[in-house]
Amino acid sequence: MTVTIDSDRLWNRHMELARFGATAGGGVWRLALDGSDLEAHRALADIALGLGFKLFLDDVGNLFIRREGLDPLLPPVVSGSHCDSQPNGGRFDGIFGVLAALEALQSIQQSGVQTRHPLECVVWNNEEGSRFAPGCMGSAVYSGVMSLEQALATIGDDGVPLRDCVRALRELLPEAEHRPLGTPFAALIEAHIEQGPELEEGGITLGVVTGMQGNLRLMVDVTGREDHSGTTPRRRRKDAFFSAVTIVQALREALHDEKDVLRFTVGRFSISPNAWSVVPGRASFAIDLRHPDQAELERCHAIVIETVARHAAPCEATVTQKSSAIPVSFEGPVRDAIQRAAQLRQISHRSIYSGAGHDSRYFPGLCPTGMLFIPCKDGISHNEAEYASPSDIAAGAQIVADVMLELAS
Ligand SMILES: [Zn+2]
Repeated sequence: MTVTIDSDRLWNRHMELARFGATAGGGVWRLALDGSDLEAHRALADIALGLGFKLFLDDVGNLFIRREGLDPLLPPVVSGSHCDSQPNGGRFDGIFGVLAALEALQSIQQSGVQTRHPLECVVWNNEEGSRFAPGCMGSAVYSGVMSLEQALATIGDDGVPLRDCVRALRELLPEAEHRPLGTPFAALIEAHIEQGPELEEGGITLGVVTGMQGNLRLMVDVTGREDHSGTTPRRRRKDAFFSAVTIVQALREALHDEKDVLRFTVGRFSISPNAWSVVPGRASFAIDLRHPDQAELERCHAIVIETVARHAAPCEATVTQKSSAIPVSFEGPVRDAIQRAAQLRQISHRSIYSGAGHDSRYFPGLCPTGMLFIPCKDGISHNEAEYASPSDIAAGAQIVADVMLELAS
């Protein structure tokens, strides 16, 4: 019993969805539940309803598209990802996983094959976290890692609370039934572009994801004193910017990893009052640390605290932990099924570790979980230039269909 997906239909659907939030540079700007993201949800819902599938929406705005199984009481085999993007993001991050799952459901539907378990395509809300921080919020709430109240109370960069946006989504999708948070899955498989260069460099079509690195986000706030830039001699200054720069340079040295496994990034930096003639009284910067080993992340956390304390003078500085995620390992039936399907289809594949975080990180403790990657051109992602080829997209979706079919039978 096999089903063949329709690669043209799948590619065209990617191009169709890329219209929502399209940028002049060929990318997508579609922040969680903004106008374009709502339109994208409605478009996905219309496709699903046209195919006779049912819609479900939970309280944090995750959308589920369901094809019924022979035994509707069995938990569903679920696949999907997200349809929000980064500002000036690409046309494939997230949406590929959603459309691959939808294509799997559609081709299985049209083949007439009945599965024991229901099949579902999930569209996780707010994966990117660029409007509402942190990211992977919908999946975190669904899996019980974050409380619903905390998520709904999150205020977007534009001042709008997530609660209002979820209400707007519910009004936009009146056909959707209510889905209780945490409703169990039989299995979860997520397809995603790699967002790195490994597969392309190796000429490999499919990455069988073995795990995901842990993540630690820290905020450093340096407090000095605002002074006149012309009259204040150096000996009297408490320049928060200079202290912050000294700290960053010291961190760069202290966290240097010869093996290039540790990822250390300062991606946000602000100074205050940010004026020509005022010695900066405050400086803040965000540290993003990633590593496959939790003990190593904890060691780095201690290094940051110690380094900040040592280099803050003459200012004061604090380190605040904003979020963390422990490293994840994907083992078991889903990963095995991905491997098997790739062998049967003679699609070149290799094991790969995920450098990025994804919604599936929260599920290995709840149900069999796995991920697959396809290459993206030059490893570029979170960028308008992001590109995945129609044939790689088709190969990834075919494996999603094969694995869903196998696990649901
Ligand atoms: Zn993504």
